[in-house]
Amino acid sequence: MSTSLLQNTPLEDIPKIHARLYETVRSGKTLPLAYRRKQLLQLAHLIQDNVKAIEAAELADLGKPALEVVLNELGPVVQACLRAVKHLEEWAEPEKPPVEEWRSNWDTTIYKAPKGVVLLISPWNYPWILTFNPLVGAIAAGCPVALKPSESSPACSALIAELVPKYLDQDAYIVVNGAVSETTALLDLRWDHIFFTGGGSVGRVVAAAAAKFVTPVTLELGGKSPVIIDSDCDIEVAAKRTLFGKLQNNGQLCVTPDYVCVPRAVLPQFKKAISSAYSQFWPNSALHPSSQWGHIVTPNHHTRVWNLIKNTKGEILEGGHVEPDKKKIAPTIVTGVSLDDPLMENENFGPVLPIIEVEDVDEAIDVVRSRPTPLVLYAFTNNEETKQKLLDKTSSGSLILNDTVTQLAVHEIPFGGLGESGYGAYSSKHTFDLFTHRRSSINVPTEFEPNFAFRYPPYSPESYAF
Ligand code: NAD
Repeated sequence: MSTSLLQNTPLEDIPKIHARLYETVRSGKTLPLAYRRKQLLQLAHLIQDNVKAIEAAELADLGKPALEVVLNELGPVVQACLRAVKHLEEWAEPEKPPVEEWRSNWDTTIYKAPKGVVLLISPWNYPWILTFNPLVGAIAAGCPVALKPSESSPACSALIAELVPKYLDQDAYIVVNGAVSETTALLDLRWDHIFFTGGGSVGRVVAAAAAKFVTPVTLELGGKSPVIIDSDCDIEVAAKRTLFGKLQNNGQLCVTPDYVCVPRAVLPQFKKAISSAYSQFWPNSALHPSSQWGHIVTPNHHTRVWNLIKNTKGEILEGGHVEPDKKKIAPTIVTGVSLDDPLMENENFGPVLPIIEVEDVDEAIDVVRSRPTPLVLYAFTNNEETKQKLLDKTSSGSLILNDTVTQLAVHEIPFGGLGESGYGAYSSKHTFDLFTHRRSSINVPTEFEPNFAFRYPPYSPESYAF
């Protein structure tokens, strides 16, 4: 187990790492499918052999319960590796699009070429899956990768730096650790794709740096993901599933339900149901030592979230307790929150759930539309008309009905944002596609020459008449 202090990569090593990765791509070493399969299996082994050490590192960084580590991070990464191994051949197979009959002998093909060397910058909140799931797609696509985990989860980042060279090809997958200076040094170099997960302000820095080199970028950002409650839904289930989503990693999740819009007519029922779910989840009170949920990542974030709770003009329905020395804040539900409350300014990225009272779904839609495009819009409804209204009148990275957070387990659909919540999307084959250049090709046979007589000078009007 490694919980040692994080060793930053010396700045002078960064150009050497970059050069080494480019040498690897030029050598063609990462191209054969057999090589990619081996690295994918090695990545699965990296996780499986080190579950206890990874759980300990997550406990040190985030206080994350082991069940959340295995269920939300390690299991899905291993499955992603195995799925990529299983489908690699089919994903990498050149495509033969249907073509018009008169050029059917032109060998029209779309080859799946690796984009090149990838820079992958990840955040602290899900250090393993948010680093390794994009890595799975990059390995599958045949791309070498520089991985830059977050300095705010030092135990996990140190362990990533220790394990990656033990399991993966050291010429092709290299960890760079550090904070702003190291990331800036990385961004001063040319890459073939930059995959960034984090906040919008750093996302802008990354996109601007990439623009200098015309490098394609994926920005997986955050934002305030709303929950809309429709009066016709099962209020008990809606309340329980919303609170479940909020408690994952103590609200430090990009798709955490950020606020809930509840119609006035069902507000008393919703409040009762969410309080009842709260006491089911934490029968001995949320701050009891037996209660399992994580702490806030850093003292600064702890102060930020606690200030939001202290400064709200709303009324605390549940929680509102704090243990600063343990960086803990009890999951807190606040009612009667107005749209100009401090809680509604930015993504709260903590265990706080503001409830906004609205007249009906239409007013909730107005609230959502008046704000930046969220990563996810959650809605609890059994009404087809409401569903259609949400599709037609709102936009978001995803629209998830009648549950929260579970979309992350559905690998067939792409995951990504829109507008302020980012651009580009990934998940399973979508990640392979993201790091793959669809290289189009035709081969025009020499025997076709007689058919081309019309295109050569001297031009004559008859030759191009329709
Ligand atoms: P962050 O933007 O502060 O940091 C992300 C990465 O950028 C880290 O590796 C960090 O070292 C680097 N970085 C920080 N400052 C930098 C600078 N000035 N120049 C260059 N690089 C810099 O994000 P965070 O606090 O680690 O994560 C929280 C944010 O990430 C939230 O907004 C959350 O919604 C978002 N997020 C999004 C997703 C998603 O999949 N869409 C997933 C998790 C988190």
